[in-house]
Amino acid sequence: MKKGTPYTLDVRPKIPARLARLEELANNLWYSWDLPTRDLFSFIQRDLWEDVGQNPKAFLQSVDEHSLIAASEDPVFLDQFQRILSAYDSYHARPVSNDLSAKFTENDLIAYFCAEFGFHESFPIYSGGLGILAGDHCKSASDMHLPFVGIGLLYRQGYFHQTVDYEGNQHAIYTDSEFDSLPISPVLDGNGLDVQVSVDLPGRRVAIKVWKAVVGNVMIYLLDTDLDENSRQDRAITHHLYGGDRSVRMEQEIVLGIGGVRALRKMGIQPSVWHINEGHAAFMVLERIRILTEQGIEFPAALEAVSVNTVFTTHTPVPAGHDHFDYGMMSLYFENYFPQLNISRDEFLALGYVSGTPDFNMTALAIHCSRFQNGVSQIHGKVSARICGELWQELDHEDNPISHITNGVHMPTFLAKEWSEVFMRYLGWDWSQHADDFSFWEKVNSIPDHQFWSVRETLKSRMMQLIRYRVRRQHFRNHGSQAHLDRILKYVDPANPNVLTIGFARRFATYKRATLLFEDLEWLREIMQDSERPVLFVFAGKAHPADIPGQDLIRQVTRISRMPEFEGKILMLEDYDMRLARRMVAGVDVWLNTPLYPLEASGTSGMKAAMNGVLNLSVLDGWWDEGYDGKNGWAIKPVSEDFPNAQRNREESQTLYELLQDRVIPTYYKQNKMGYSPEWVKMSKRSIATLLPQFNSARMVGEYIDKTYLPAIKQYYKYWENNFEGARRVAHWKTFIRQAWPGVTIRRMGMTKQSVMFKESVRVEVGVNLNGLNPSDVAVEMLIGQASQKEKSGPEMSYLFTAREMNQQTGEHVYMLEFTPELCGKLEYRIRVHPHHEMLTHRFELGLMRWL
Ligand SMILES: *Cc1c(COP(=O)(O)O)cnc(C)c1O
Repeated sequence: MKKGTPYTLDVRPKIPARLARLEELANNLWYSWDLPTRDLFSFIQRDLWEDVGQNPKAFLQSVDEHSLIAASEDPVFLDQFQRILSAYDSYHARPVSNDLSAKFTENDLIAYFCAEFGFHESFPIYSGGLGILAGDHCKSASDMHLPFVGIGLLYRQGYFHQTVDYEGNQHAIYTDSEFDSLPISPVLDGNGLDVQVSVDLPGRRVAIKVWKAVVGNVMIYLLDTDLDENSRQDRAITHHLYGGDRSVRMEQEIVLGIGGVRALRKMGIQPSVWHINEGHAAFMVLERIRILTEQGIEFPAALEAVSVNTVFTTHTPVPAGHDHFDYGMMSLYFENYFPQLNISRDEFLALGYVSGTPDFNMTALAIHCSRFQNGVSQIHGKVSARICGELWQELDHEDNPISHITNGVHMPTFLAKEWSEVFMRYLGWDWSQHADDFSFWEKVNSIPDHQFWSVRETLKSRMMQLIRYRVRRQHFRNHGSQAHLDRILKYVDPANPNVLTIGFARRFATYKRATLLFEDLEWLREIMQDSERPVLFVFAGKAHPADIPGQDLIRQVTRISRMPEFEGKILMLEDYDMRLARRMVAGVDVWLNTPLYPLEASGTSGMKAAMNGVLNLSVLDGWWDEGYDGKNGWAIKPVSEDFPNAQRNREESQTLYELLQDRVIPTYYKQNKMGYSPEWVKMSKRSIATLLPQFNSARMVGEYIDKTYLPAIKQYYKYWENNFEGARRVAHWKTFIRQAWPGVTIRRMGMTKQSVMFKESVRVEVGVNLNGLNPSDVAVEMLIGQASQKEKSGPEMSYLFTAREMNQQTGEHVYMLEFTPELCGKLEYRIRVHPHHEMLTHRFELGLMRWL
């Protein structure tokens, strides 16, 4: 035992002048997708690079001075350093594409709010899919030079590290980040002082410090309450990601939503579009409305003005997954806030109202206060339109404004570097500029099979090295023996990676059904017993610390992996993070995903796998329903939702076993003399060619630009011009419509022919009681299509009626339609009337519709 009090002294290495710009590289998350930059750091002192978790800033704080000096005198290192700096400089200086600069003016800016951002494992402010998607969105925005900023929270502890013990119990380990060694810096004002804002919580004011992280061309502003001037309790608001109780969650969301708007304002940043990425950030609309009402604008006009340039993306397909707070909490936290909006408590609570629940729902708030809403895959868009359907009660669900933009992943981040040389050679030096160009990627077919396969084997072998390292660490910590470890790792041999390897890694949540593979152990045993054709399953993933059933799944996987017949054939790796993800999605042969339809909103790990030539074997849910083409992987068709879960599990697992036994294993092992299966390689090439250009974030952000950001900017100018004249007009008009609507009726007038010859015209007349509205305030419409026996009818054509005279006796307005059917056969038509105004963003945004 040493005596005396130990004091700490940080000795920071002096960076040689020639290497000064290493600090710039360490402070720009460009390194999170630029592999040569990361390799450069590792060249300087490899063991340290591993010890600091591949964190460049932490690395530069403790790198050995001699190694730095040696690097600064090594011509090979300097050469590579110059090459990287020149790539870095030209990335930042690259002119904005003509296409994009024609679309945006210099006043335009998109502000993207999200509770988590996943850029790289060295910056732990993410937990999983949502955060990594947000990170990829920012990275693609940077690649395109989109005028864009992100707003999030700076978590002191971020998400937890996971260890899994011998019994399969998950242990959560939280470690404090040293903000000093994260790629962030405080935002300073003109006087060199920290930029701070505050929010009011019950009985106190909480100070918030603003930090920034640079992601290529894009800034991310991160909010932090861990400040001396805050109470201990308030300092902890930004400690944990998705930790704490409901109050902490509420406080985090207030800091993010309300604090985020204040921070941007304080910095003089004026976005023209505001993107709410998942309901956690939805309070931002309240603060924006408050700012307008403070300027004397009435609430209804302020609501229209704010909604019209707000984009909301929902990520959860179950109502229970939508964030909500009870009214008691809402009153407690917003008692002094909602009066500033000049509305009553009831009007305030109505913004988050969903019938049948006593709570204030953040999804409902986001929908009420945005005019662009989307889910994250085609199926999820439809499901969201259905579960949020009551917000537009009089509409068919398919007509409501919720659309979809399918997720994508950032190619430079997730495509393994081993591909780049081969792509350079066979696709052309500028291959990386063609991320979303479909015909371009057909060229992967020109890569010789053996060369293609050798990349696949290299990737598997590199993954196996990481698996060995991780399993070893886990095994000895759990007091296992060397002999036992050898048995566990018998198929994980980087020198001989020719073992069919199937990966399953994602959050352990029950709907993801990690254990579907184990429905029938007898069958699985049979499939896996052939020693000539070994199969290795690799599992990884964290369960939320409060998710007890999720943690139980980890125990089950662990228990089965220890059965003698599965030992060494099923592995459960701990601490799934972006690093392990990058290795696994590139290294395995097959990526397995077995969610319970339709609960996988999109799923993104399968996209990462697909672009690396890994074959997906998944339930047709989320993105895979759009990606699967019959030849680029395998599909498990979900059993109807009407059946009980037990039956769905049973039947879908049978499909899974059949596919493994009849298709996956035989195809993999149908190897030629050169040691690979030509059929497999063909599928694998097809996976890249068909899926990479579609499911990457360049395509995704492009869609957000065209479908939401640009239209939102257009509407923003229309509504905000002349001191909000447009917003006021729409708000008044909506009030007028809503008042009159209950009295609006529609009925048929006269007889319509029931049968006509093709090309003969038909005349239909309806009488509409407008209850004081003007004829131009509504549109009367006929929808007509082929009559169908099935519940779902085919596409319908739409015809608009024209307003005729008013019927003096009844007071009704007559609307007439004369049209010539373009189809033959038995047709079915419906007639409806709905409010109409040319300034609306979505023609049905009021949700009002009267059906005949
Ligand atoms: C991509 C990714 C996810 C999300 O995967 P899903 O398939 O959407 O569940 C989660 N965690 C990490 C570390 C990832 O890289």
